[in-house]
Amino acid sequence: MRDTIKHRGMRNNLAEVLANKGIIDEKVLDAIREVPRHLFLDSSFEAHAYQDKAFPIGADQTISQPYTVAFQTELLQVSPGQKILEIGTGSGYQTAVLLTLRTKVYTIERQQELFKKTKLFFGKMGYRPRKLVFGDGYKGLPDEAPFERIIVTAGAPEVPKPLLAQLSIGGRLVIPVGIEDQIMTLFIRKSEKEFEKKELGNFRFVPLLENKN
Ligand code: SAH
Repeated sequence: MRDTIKHRGMRNNLAEVLANKGIIDEKVLDAIREVPRHLFLDSSFEAHAYQDKAFPIGADQTISQPYTVAFQTELLQVSPGQKILEIGTGSGYQTAVLLTLRTKVYTIERQQELFKKTKLFFGKMGYRPRKLVFGDGYKGLPDEAPFERIIVTAGAPEVPKPLLAQLSIGGRLVIPVGIEDQIMTLFIRKSEKEFEKKELGNFRFVPLLENKN
């Protein structure tokens, strides 16, 4: 598969659809216009890649719907050079959106099959996260903490404590919380002990799975 003018046109339309759904951050919309989502999917989905829909990516997982990616990215309020932790690399699409915004991304995936596939794909595409880790995102990445931004791209039954602990003061954590469906939740770290919490609408994610071993 290649990236063509036709794909670019479809991405421009997608950005417009997302703007109509309420995404206002032009930098986020520009990243959506830039990242070739069809290349993150199996070729059988190519014709549909720029619809605002989630699709299977193997290992029972899905690539998030573009609106969800844009909504979470907008909530994060990233600026270039920021250090970001992502839980749930999956297809790598959200990672690529964050890299396009010139941030330093550390990303964790717990499914080996997806981890390997996305690692190869990033190499081929020239996407360079600071770290692509095979592991349990519940624990975060204590050795690399603190992070200015943390994004969780799977539904968390509860907020993992290590993630709050690994957020820098002034930092933002965006996490969908819930079991059947999830409430998008934003935490802003005000001080060592205080977090401001905002709830921002309902979404549906695949579950964040804790590694019990
Ligand atoms: N950001 C991805 C979304 C993938 S769906 C994309 O744009 O494609 C959520 C991903 O979270 C899945 O790949 C799933 O395997 C992963 N995941 C679930 N529980 C996890 C955990 N505890 N640690 C890290 N990744 C996890």
